[in-house]
Amino acid sequence: MDRYDLIVVGGGPAGMAAALAAWESGCRRVLLAERQERLGGVLPQCVHTGFGLLEYGEEFTGPEYAARQIARLSATGVEVRTDTTVTAIDPDRTVTLLSPDGLRRCRGEAVLLASGARERAIGSLPVTGTRPAGVFTAGQAQRLMNLKGLFPGERAVILGSGDIGMIVARRLALEGRQVLGVAELASHGGGLYRNRLQCLEEFGIPLWLNTTVSRIHGRDRLEGVTLRRADGAEREVACDTLITSVGLIPERELLEPFRDGALPPWLQVCGNARRIYDLVDRAADQAAGLARETVRCLGTEQAPVQPPEDPGEAPQPGEEGLVCLVCPRGCVLRRGPGDGVTGAGCSRGEEFFRRELVERRRVLTAVVTAGGGIRVPLRTTAPIPRERFPEVLAALRRCPVELPVAAGQTVLRDPGDWGSDVVAQCRCGPSGT
Ligand SMILES: Cc1cc2nc3c(=O)[nH]c(=O)nc-3n(C[C@H](O)[C@H](O)[C@H](O)COP(=O)(O)OP(=O)(O)OC[C@H]3O[C@@H](n4cnc5c(N)ncnc54)[C@H](O)[C@@H]3O)c2cc1C
Ligand code: SF4
Repeated sequence: MDRYDLIVVGGGPAGMAAALAAWESGCRRVLLAERQERLGGVLPQCVHTGFGLLEYGEEFTGPEYAARQIARLSATGVEVRTDTTVTAIDPDRTVTLLSPDGLRRCRGEAVLLASGARERAIGSLPVTGTRPAGVFTAGQAQRLMNLKGLFPGERAVILGSGDIGMIVARRLALEGRQVLGVAELASHGGGLYRNRLQCLEEFGIPLWLNTTVSRIHGRDRLEGVTLRRADGAEREVACDTLITSVGLIPERELLEPFRDGALPPWLQVCGNARRIYDLVDRAADQAAGLARETVRCLGTEQAPVQPPEDPGEAPQPGEEGLVCLVCPRGCVLRRGPGDGVTGAGCSRGEEFFRRELVERRRVLTAVVTAGGGIRVPLRTTAPIPRERFPEVLAALRRCPVELPVAAGQTVLRDPGDWGSDVVAQCRCGPSGT
């Protein structure tokens, strides 16, 4: 049986950060097991920006952030096994792995569970009616569109105003699909103000507060939903797609053998498997801190102490505070008197606020299909005027992308004289990303 100092289960942002931190803390026998064919967890499908600010001081897209973490991992001696599912963790520290090569058992001095979370599905909600085709979770819809080039439908209703649902609403709208509205049970929006602004308001997508979906209509394909407001009023909306964004549940089935007691000191849980993190950066930071502490405790029977987490500054739900993304401090900026801004720790925050709310310049991200059906995620190198997105997207549709393409390679040179090229987010080619 192979022996490791640390076995990390799951190669998403948390698992990658944990394996890297363990290696950088001097741990030399580290195994990272990931059930998918590639590392990254949810990152490859998140082609929008918003990742890596805490770690790198720069805002990356999901594929860009994943590529940086993977490059760092490949410069270490961490044994990375993709296409490898951990099927059991036993109380005697045996970890069972299943891969195309068969079953393998290993022993870990310590084991870190970084298996992420799964989305709450429609079946867990009090929604009556049929279960026709056309009902997706936001993550499923995002995966279909960004990784497979398939669109869930033409007229969508979104249930739940979490960040993932709003980001999916924007992607659908950018691709010319109709998003009728986002139904939210609470009396305020759920996700970040920045997403409400950039994903809903700027696309004219209504947010229906105090409203939920109470019934699904249609036999083979979805034909409509009934929206019910808190005062009991109902109305039917015709649509062919319902996308749910109603929360995540930590994936902890592997802890079943330990259900009756506290976890042993050698077994720890990090990232979304521990608790739901809205921001990848925070999940990675928690996992890295716990991995360092786990390495420190190796060879002792001491339980690692979870280092205190930086909660970051965050606006309250429903509040119109914009988190400054220029540096990791993340000041919460609010409209001040006149055109002013309050809350900025420095003048760069004021510039950020002006760019976001007054000039409305944004980084455009998109995915195009190249030869062989390969999906290539793209971004502009700098923010461009929001109202010019449609013409850049139209130009991209006319512009064939020749494979292979390297990360950062220009696909369309400065389409609007803004000093901003369109480049590939990651290396893409017939042999994969
Ligand atoms: C659809 C979706 C979109 C999101 N969008 C954003 C966003 O835009 N911005 C943002 O900041 N945050 C976003 N989040 C939140 C973000 O996902 C989390 O904060 C972060 O991904 C948590 O990282 P993780 O590594 O814990 O989990 P994950 O990214 O879920 O990674 C877990 C990994 O573990 C693997 N795994 C699970 N079980 C096993 C097993 N038994 N054996 C081997 N491998 C296993 C999985 O295949 C997966 O790769 C999103 C979440 C979801 C679900
Ligand atoms: S306002 Fe200044 S200090 Fe605050 S997050 Fe922005 S750049 Fe950083």
